[in-house]
Amino acid sequence: MRIDVVSIFPEYLAPLDLSLVGKARTSGLLDLRVHDLRDWTTDRHRTVDDTPFGGGAGMVMRPDVWGTALDELLDEDAHLLVPTPSGEPFTQRTAEALAGESHLVLACGRYEGIDARVAEHYRSHGRVTEFSLGDYVLNGGEVAALVVVEAVARLLPGVVGNPESLVEESHGAAGLLEYPVYTKPPTWAGLGVPDVLLSGHHARIARWRRDTALERTAARRPDLVAGLRVEDLDAHDLAL
Ligand code: SAM
Repeated sequence: MRIDVVSIFPEYLAPLDLSLVGKARTSGLLDLRVHDLRDWTTDRHRTVDDTPFGGGAGMVMRPDVWGTALDELLDEDAHLLVPTPSGEPFTQRTAEALAGESHLVLACGRYEGIDARVAEHYRSHGRVTEFSLGDYVLNGGEVAALVVVEAVARLLPGVVGNPESLVEESHGAAGLLEYPVYTKPPTWAGLGVPDVLLSGHHARIARWRRDTALERTAARRPDLVAGLRVEDLDAHDLAL
């Protein structure tokens, strides 16, 4: 997969050299390129923004600078991703869908965001998704780009060492939050580990994990419980 990230703060994307994403880049599983938007400016001051039409506070990123950059980066397979608090929610389903694509281009906004004509223009030429990380406002799209790259890259075959660790995760196929996890020592700060996890009884452990995942989801994210399909629940689940 190829991912291009365009930002006026390319240094912000430095963590993409680390950990599993960094290894995926080194091994060639991920062709990730970070670009400085100002490289596409033509004036002496490398200007990327201007005052908003209609007045008001703040600055807006100019469409002509973004257009020059995106015309160069977007090929016919590319999917343009524009982070914005007014976008559709970015979820694990979004990450799964994007993991099947060959080329993503992330356009990181700053200030009051990118002139609205940029998304409109490229939507008439190809795939564009304006997405939000959540119901809050960040200073720029770089954090959103880090989130997307990490959430998508870990789903690419070979990036996570043991693919089994992706199976029972929160927000997976079961639609549940993950059960609580524990490791050694068996007692810490006066707190023990649930006996069943020390029993070696695989069926009982699986049942306990399922039950605690359901209980935790109901307590913390009742909206997810509402989305569970009855046919995916067993009699024990329904008795909880
Ligand atoms: N004026 C915009 C609004 O109220 O919708 C907020 C602009 S914000 C200060 C600047 C940039 O941060 C946005 O263009 C976007 O790239 C990014 N950003 C901020 N919050 C975000 C969120 N919740 N999800 C995704 N990107 C976000």
